[in-house]
Amino acid sequence: MIKKLKSFVSGEWVEGTGTPVTLYNPTTEEAIAETGTQGIDFSACLDFARKKGNPALRNLTFAQRGDLIGRMSKVIHEHREELIELSVTSGGNTRGDAKFDLDGATGTLAYYASQSGKLGDRKFLADGDVIPLGRNPRFVGQHIQVPFMGAAVQINAFNFPAWGFAEKAAVALLAGMPVVTKPATSTAVLAHRIMEIVIAAEIFPVGALSFIAGSAGDLLDHLTCQDVLSFTGSSTTAQILRRHPAVIQNSVRINVEADSLNAAVLGPDAGSDSKTYDLFLLEVSREMTQKAGQKCTAVRRLFVPEAIIDRMSDDLVNQIKTVRVGDPGMREVRMGPLATASQLEDVHAGLDRLMGCGKAVLGDGGRGELVGIDHDKGYFMSPVLILASDPESSVVHDHEVFGPVQTLMPYSGKAVDAIRHVNLGLGGLVSSVYTDDRDFAREVVMGVAPFHGRIHLVGEKVAEHSMGSGAVLPQMLHGGPGRAGGGEELGGLRGLSFYMQRTAVAASKPLLERIIRDAGGSVEASDAQEQSHSEVSTT
Ligand code: NAP
Repeated sequence: MIKKLKSFVSGEWVEGTGTPVTLYNPTTEEAIAETGTQGIDFSACLDFARKKGNPALRNLTFAQRGDLIGRMSKVIHEHREELIELSVTSGGNTRGDAKFDLDGATGTLAYYASQSGKLGDRKFLADGDVIPLGRNPRFVGQHIQVPFMGAAVQINAFNFPAWGFAEKAAVALLAGMPVVTKPATSTAVLAHRIMEIVIAAEIFPVGALSFIAGSAGDLLDHLTCQDVLSFTGSSTTAQILRRHPAVIQNSVRINVEADSLNAAVLGPDAGSDSKTYDLFLLEVSREMTQKAGQKCTAVRRLFVPEAIIDRMSDDLVNQIKTVRVGDPGMREVRMGPLATASQLEDVHAGLDRLMGCGKAVLGDGGRGELVGIDHDKGYFMSPVLILASDPESSVVHDHEVFGPVQTLMPYSGKAVDAIRHVNLGLGGLVSSVYTDDRDFAREVVMGVAPFHGRIHLVGEKVAEHSMGSGAVLPQMLHGGPGRAGGGEELGGLRGLSFYMQRTAVAASKPLLERIIRDAGGSVEASDAQEQSHSEVSTT
């Protein structure tokens, strides 16, 4: 039966009018849902969030907000099996992919719930220590961070309907801002069900959560200087949002998580008989096929010393061939279809461009051999590994093919060359370095760090602890400069700052102490600072 997705705005579920958009099961191409947002009053939706949700949240302490976020994590987890099934049918995810998304969501919520303990019974943050401003010690300065008084509009990409929603919502809610979340329309079924579950559990104050099931319509026209906009998706859409008149006119704070051509470098020391070589093989092939390569953190470019490139190419082909592609509902299947017909079309077009710089040593853009599929429907494409001889060919570094496609390239084995090639991606979310050579590691880390939000540096000693570069952990920053959008999310308590205004207050010390104490803060020694020198402090 086709489900009609409703939006949750101004405290109630409402159905859009007009011609709906149809959503499909990517494995069978059967229509599974319809949605639309025509006729929904987005101005009223934002106003409701600002007037009801915002004061209710900002009047809670961090500990109280954390408690709500923890309950949200639990209630989603209680529906895990049902949600896994839905993720398979609505997103083409294997069960493993579905768990990656869902457990990532509940894990991130649980993490932020646990962090609220560090901030305790306060309602805002004091940032750094009290600063003496003149000769007289009575006149001092203090930076504070207070939640904005508007709504946090959060627009997400199609690939992580659960995690994408949760990782943004957890931080905004903990900071004290209500959330207006919009999943990508094509895979909104899962996010919609999650929202139904959370709303039915009546965890949050009225107005704290709103949900848009479909196009954003004129939502952004109504943004004010007290709202914030957090976006994940393509750099093309990001540019449209950055140029939106309301965003420009009202200096709306915007965070962008966009494209990334993540790289992996194998160090010159990691011979084919080393544990580090094996780890590289295992991790990069998983990065290529997990979620059919539709991960912002998936590795796209591989740099391997030229002396062993042929061996690596053979080993990678054999490793990737072990991944069974087909019906994502089957337990033995490790890779399902792409999420939508247009996604498959984009990947084919991107592949055509990439083929100009090398030859495919595995796959050809076709469906390949599929397990459990006895029809010609579904947006399937088997993995493609391209071997390119020129590591500086611009097409490899310029265009993100958002699917199960990687390009393998040789380099000299010198750090300076690895750095140059990796940085041709012009800004990325994460790149990985596989080496046990400390000098090589240091040089590459320092050389690529200015172009990346995160570096995954692994070798023999940590092989069994590595979860792969694709795992986005809430305690680590997510985001990156340049092509990756220039944004920062998560990173433990650092993430809160996006949802808060940092204000410098100069005053007499006793008055400042009183204001901060009465308003739910404290000017005593910073406990959070003691726990983490560089995290936002709570003096
Ligand atoms: P997309 O087409 O840019 O869409 C992303 C979101 O923006 C969707 O919710 C979409 O809504 C919405 N949107 C599109 N046009 C809009 C407009 N004019 N106003 C307001 N909202 C608008 O990206 P996608 O195809 O979903 O995702 C794939 C891309 O996301 C890839 O390029 C990938 O690299 C990137 N990505 C980045 C990260 C990261 O963390 N850096 C994570 C995941 C994905 P509709 O669906 O309703 O059009």
